[in-house]
Amino acid sequence: MDILAHGLWAGAAVVAVSRQRPPASLLGWTVALAVVPDLAHMLPVSGWALTTLSSTEWWQYATASPGQEPPMPHAILFWAHHLHCVFHSAIVATLVSAIVWWRRGALWLPLLGWWSHIVIDVFTHSAEFFPSPVWYPLTYWGFDGVAWNRPGFVWANYLALAGVWGWLIWRSRKRQLR
Ligand SMILES: [Zn+2]
Repeated sequence: MDILAHGLWAGAAVVAVSRQRPPASLLGWTVALAVVPDLAHMLPVSGWALTTLSSTEWWQYATASPGQEPPMPHAILFWAHHLHCVFHSAIVATLVSAIVWWRRGALWLPLLGWWSHIVIDVFTHSAEFFPSPVWYPLTYWGFDGVAWNRPGFVWANYLALAGVWGWLIWRSRKRQLR
């Protein structure tokens, strides 16, 4: 799913399950972890672009049509690819969640933001549209779901988000009046 919708769904879930206004740190961390999987792989690319490209080259890069970009070093492509896979892997998320649980003695709730990203992407990518590598590093196989970039899907998704956020705002107003 797109990065904005990931953040909005995770935020809605935190607000929906909280009896009162959720702590800002809980909301902030959950939303951050829900969007990070689609941002992490941009770090090596932006780092390389900022440190090695001149401003004209950078502009050529930023405005290139897909497949027409100037060549990127192999190492940058390698790191970008594997970072993307690491953050979309249920195996990596299980390991990290288990370590955090063990260190804290309790589940750290914001990790559910990351988990929501992984689960949603499994079903909103298809075999033709970047199947989500949920079992990385064992396999790149991904579930053949419904690609989120279909126009009907994008509309339905944002209508559902508008409905859910509308309900959450109405509910919080009602609570304030009581
Ligand atoms: Zn993703």
